[in-house]
Amino acid sequence: MKKLLSLFVSILITVSLISCNVSSVSETTVEAKSDTSTESVFSGAAPGYNGLIETLVTIDNDKIKDVTITHHSETPGIGGPLLDSSGKKLTVGGESPIDLIPKMIVDNQSINIDAVSGATATSYGILHAVSDALIKANYRVDAVTAATEVLPPDYEPKEVDLSEEERAILDKWLIKADFDTFHEDTKSDVVVIGGGGAGLAAAISASENGANVIVIEKNGEVGGDTLVCGAIYNAPDEEMQKKLVMNETKKEIIEKALNEKPVNDEHKELIDIVKAKLNEHNAKNESELFDSKEWFALQTYNGGDKKANLSLVKTLCYNSYDGLMWIKNIGVKFFDFISQGAGSLWERTHTNTMPMGTGFISSYLDKIESSDKIKIITNTTALNIKKDESGKVSIVECKDKYGNLFNISANKSIIIATGGFSANPSMLDNYNTKDSSIWSDITLSTLPTTNRTTVSGGDGIEMGKNVGAALTDMSEIQLLYLGNLENGDLTKYPPRCVNGTDQVIFINKLGERFTNEGGRRDDICSAVLKEPDKTFYILESADGDKYVDIYSDEFRSADGFSLDYLIENNFIYVADTIKELAEKLNMNPDTLQKTIDDFNSYVDEESDPYGRTLFSTKIEHGPFVATPRQVSVHHTMGGLKIDEAAHVLDENGDIIEGLFAAGEVTGGIHGGNRLGGNAVVDTVVFGRIAGKNAANP
Ligand code: ADP
Repeated sequence: MKKLLSLFVSILITVSLISCNVSSVSETTVEAKSDTSTESVFSGAAPGYNGLIETLVTIDNDKIKDVTITHHSETPGIGGPLLDSSGKKLTVGGESPIDLIPKMIVDNQSINIDAVSGATATSYGILHAVSDALIKANYRVDAVTAATEVLPPDYEPKEVDLSEEERAILDKWLIKADFDTFHEDTKSDVVVIGGGGAGLAAAISASENGANVIVIEKNGEVGGDTLVCGAIYNAPDEEMQKKLVMNETKKEIIEKALNEKPVNDEHKELIDIVKAKLNEHNAKNESELFDSKEWFALQTYNGGDKKANLSLVKTLCYNSYDGLMWIKNIGVKFFDFISQGAGSLWERTHTNTMPMGTGFISSYLDKIESSDKIKIITNTTALNIKKDESGKVSIVECKDKYGNLFNISANKSIIIATGGFSANPSMLDNYNTKDSSIWSDITLSTLPTTNRTTVSGGDGIEMGKNVGAALTDMSEIQLLYLGNLENGDLTKYPPRCVNGTDQVIFINKLGERFTNEGGRRDDICSAVLKEPDKTFYILESADGDKYVDIYSDEFRSADGFSLDYLIENNFIYVADTIKELAEKLNMNPDTLQKTIDDFNSYVDEESDPYGRTLFSTKIEHGPFVATPRQVSVHHTMGGLKIDEAAHVLDENGDIIEGLFAAGEVTGGIHGGNRLGGNAVVDTVVFGRIAGKNAANP
């Protein structure tokens, strides 16, 4: 308790030290309800994960009557509530701290409340904001000021001793709230470990195929790293791609792939089908963009340096359109344009209409809410999986957040869907082996990651190994060049960076282009790592059909931040002219102008020295927006070895009875470099297959 108390107070003291703004209203006396009762409302504030959390705490007769969060910018589905596309709040996959913790404080008359796993920064932010208000409630003055600055997420408060007075103030609110829930051993037809994109898709699919399902999620809320993804989904889509055009550079790319010497019969067969389909297409309309599921598969295979298992690549790509229809049917909504997502290599990317991955997860939860076949158990970690006496994997050993141990047995099958290991520093470094990884010169654990530390720990890999699963492609680790400079997250940037590769250019600190913006993710990362300070800017103008008016009142970055916040905190630099932008970025204006003039001439010529194929849009009109970015660890392509039916395989290539896997925990699907926009496809296609087969093993 002392530690917790120290934590609160140390944050409060830090808050007051860094504050530059004293909250003006700290107490509001509201109308007395009776002669003897007076309610008073006190404001409190403290930093959460995404900036300041502000609260109003109502005290009545020395009791906490109400806690209302009046302002926050916490991430939807993690710190903040998850809404679906109609604005309905979803709680079936766990309640966010913004909703849960105020209720718990009032119910228990305590601020000694456990943080929501996976959202600790927000949880502590709320508890600190409320303790701020409680101290004011005691002093009836502005004893502690509100902070206006954000503490970094990895901020570690130093312990300080409380003064007698402070201890006395907070003591009465520090009685530990007791929330132990006890889970008994239980069973279900199918048990899914992990409630991210793949796990929820698998659960829905298994239920559609007649099974009762339990989903175990270690965090307080489901969603995993799918929640913070770029919301893009690749699938050839004849109808939607009609507006897109072919050009000479794109033709050359296809020709090159078709003229390669096949590495095996399956590759040859694929090349032959693409050739035939291309001829068919050209006979009809040569000027329209060519695409087909086979060309998608060939690009995915080549884009991963032919290291993937081609049969799995075909399963992924051939089922991507069906998967798209399936999730649309569940309620996932997409914009009515097709783009080339970052690192997608072809214009076949569909973009979800909701911020980051919230559109996928909220639609899945809407579906699960209306199903009586799926039960989600949050705050529960799968520790291990075991075989029963018949040799079939059917037992999941679980631990809830209070340390209670219990087992869940699967009548039919277990599906591992625990995501990747990008947030596990020792796994990253151990598997980044000298002989096989392209990043062997880098200690990957020193780079930031776009992944959540409480999510992508690689648990499923260890569990799989314990029952004899084979691993594949473990040294294939994807870096991505879209990390912000604050913490390497994908967020705090304008929407076009992920889906508008045709309408942006990349410039280094000198104002020069240095790479093909539409190229492979590993190539772009390698190029960025050679540039000054290993950073660059994504430069956008007001041109092109994906322009978002940054000056409109509704404008927010993909993670919900206002233009003022983004500018003030150097997430973006905005100028009306190129000269002004160059000055803001400390670049030579002539260099930047020449870069843009050259680029615009390449658009006219439809030919680019860096190999760009996207020539729809010149950079001409302001406002010009530059976003600084860095390289982050993003995706782990290796994992459990599976077959096309999502069975987990052992070292002999045999099926491990009772065990399926889907999503980032698996390997063999992407090879050495995953195409941007293929990760969600992976979760949908293989999640769906795993669910169906797990229900009918
Ligand atoms: P994918 O994209 O493959 O679905 P995600 O990162 O979206 O991967 O989801 C993986 C989910 O699995 C996350 O919600 C994560 O918290 C959960 N998870 C990881 N390890 C465990 C575990 N040992 N027990 C329960 N849930 C886990």
